[in-house]
Amino acid sequence: MSTTTADVIVVGSGAAGATAALRARADGNDVIVLEAGPQVGGTTRRSSGGFWAPNNSLMRARGIEDPRDYALKYMARLSYPELYDPEHPTLGVPQADYDMLAVTYDRTTEAVDFLKDNGHIAIIEMQGFTGEAGDFPPYYEQPDLDKAPYGRHLGAAYDEAGVAAAAGEALRGQGAQPTVGNQGDGRELSRQFEASMAREGIDVRVNHRVDGILKDDGEVTGVTATTPGGQETFNARKGVIFASGGFSMSEALSDDLLMGPIYGTGAAPECRGDFIQLTKDFDVELAHTEHAWWCEVPLELGLESRIQDWLVFIPWGDSMITVNREGHRVVNEKALYNDRGPAHFIGGKEEGYPNRILMMVFDEGVLQNPLDWVTRWPIPMPDGSSPSVSIPGVKETDLVISGDTLEEFAANVEARLATLADKTDGFDLAPGFVEGLKAEIERFNGFAASGVDEDFQRGSVRIQTEMYGPPRPGNDKNPTMFPFRDSGPYHCILLGAGTLETKGGPRIDPHARVVRKDGTPIPRLYGAGNCIANPTAGAYWSGGATLGTAMATGFIAGEQASAQEPVA
Ligand SMILES: Cc1cc2nc3c(=O)[nH]c(=O)nc-3n(C[C@H](O)[C@H](O)[C@H](O)COP(=O)(O)OP(=O)(O)OC[C@H]3O[C@@H](n4cnc5c(N)ncnc54)[C@H](O)[C@@H]3O)c2cc1C
Repeated sequence: MSTTTADVIVVGSGAAGATAALRARADGNDVIVLEAGPQVGGTTRRSSGGFWAPNNSLMRARGIEDPRDYALKYMARLSYPELYDPEHPTLGVPQADYDMLAVTYDRTTEAVDFLKDNGHIAIIEMQGFTGEAGDFPPYYEQPDLDKAPYGRHLGAAYDEAGVAAAAGEALRGQGAQPTVGNQGDGRELSRQFEASMAREGIDVRVNHRVDGILKDDGEVTGVTATTPGGQETFNARKGVIFASGGFSMSEALSDDLLMGPIYGTGAAPECRGDFIQLTKDFDVELAHTEHAWWCEVPLELGLESRIQDWLVFIPWGDSMITVNREGHRVVNEKALYNDRGPAHFIGGKEEGYPNRILMMVFDEGVLQNPLDWVTRWPIPMPDGSSPSVSIPGVKETDLVISGDTLEEFAANVEARLATLADKTDGFDLAPGFVEGLKAEIERFNGFAASGVDEDFQRGSVRIQTEMYGPPRPGNDKNPTMFPFRDSGPYHCILLGAGTLETKGGPRIDPHARVVRKDGTPIPRLYGAGNCIANPTAGAYWSGGATLGTAMATGFIAGEQASAQEPVA
């Protein structure tokens, strides 16, 4: 078995690992990055590439203030709604979790400046749906606590090399062509990370899957990895940083740990929760493993393949409601993806997850709407073709179940569900489905006519209306709602819960040190990104919160590992 030694070994080359490697390298350390996949980037490469950074230098330069006490309250209330207490010294949040909120606020901006000022990533303000930089709307409108709703959202700008590398491929999830100076997606972010690591002389080895952590007298000294050349050992003089992503691609861990069943994920195939497995005997405390960065997936695609190339970020359509097997709405259909995933778990294990499959029901007016909007997928275009943002090879018309009357529609849904029953634990419609759906459509039509959704407040905040897209002509009320037609045909697409990726794992402290159950750090072992207990817990503070926290924790891990005295 060959042995290689470096100052710092980083496991994983997504945003967390790349930031950690660059930060450690900035102090002159030898750094090796071991990446299980065939290319750099992991789930980061598959993402839209935006990142959330409170109190960042770009917003400050624009004169936007982001006061710490308000920001921490905003983060705490979203992450720990049941514990939140504004009068409490740690806002009602356990000290260890509060410390992670505080360090995220305090240090994300340093991570961003490090990447920007050293020319590693060309950072710009995220574009909103209006196309204007800095205009990306917040996911939650909470003006009492959120003093900086516009300004925390950042992205990586394309340069000429990036546009050339894209080779005419449209931006992920946006359909637009890359242009110099405009915001790039996860591929561009990863390309810039990869180029920066190469420029800085970081030794990045793909197809190297770490499969063991080496310890000596309680201290972590290195890792073993399965490589194209066989089993190899990598010793670390200063420290090992795990940034190996979440566990969505492990069915066993997902079934065991997540709060409910998922039918698909956007995560990279190599994200199988190796860090959780490898630290089983390390007396670590796992936290936030029930949570994920939630989303929805078209059920039938998820049943074919766990890995999904794109996800349902917001179900499109105005004359559209999402109903359960009783025909009832259970969620604001235009709520952010992170809030819609858990709607599938209402009822819980005790009731057999009765909402694990929901039906996105829409009328012919939605299907015939010619608007090719970025969030239209998986609804096909009126002529049956794919919208611009779609998954190559997927025939959206196959996902649509239709019927001329609601009775016929229900019978066809029932028939389709029967064909899937062996993979869905026999999921079927409840006996009162048609009556439930009729009543729900009638109630929804009233809301659409008045513009106010009294049950779920659909379309009440800017992000929901802008993600949905422009209103259809004649709708001057609430752009996200329009009354269903009086007659069919009616259609639906079956949806299940999915993840962008999971976000739970061993706890770290504010120095990114992996800690034992008693809170003491395991010497020379660090963690960052989705493989550790993410500071957000169950929340998605706003667009980019996942890459933002990956960069922040990666930056700290790189800095702290670098600061260790090397072992002889
Ligand atoms: C469609 C989609 C869009 C998204 N858009 C956004 C967005 O715009 N903004 C945002 O903030 N987030 C977004 N996300 C989420 C975001 O991509 C992830 O949360 C983030 O990339 C996680 O970064 P990471 O560095 O922790 O993990 P990853 O990027 O997943 O990197 C982990 C790496 O570790 C490697 N690895 C795993 N096990 C091992 C092992 N044993 N040995 C060696 N290597 C290993 C993996 O191959 C992978 O490359 C999106 C996700 C999806 C799916």
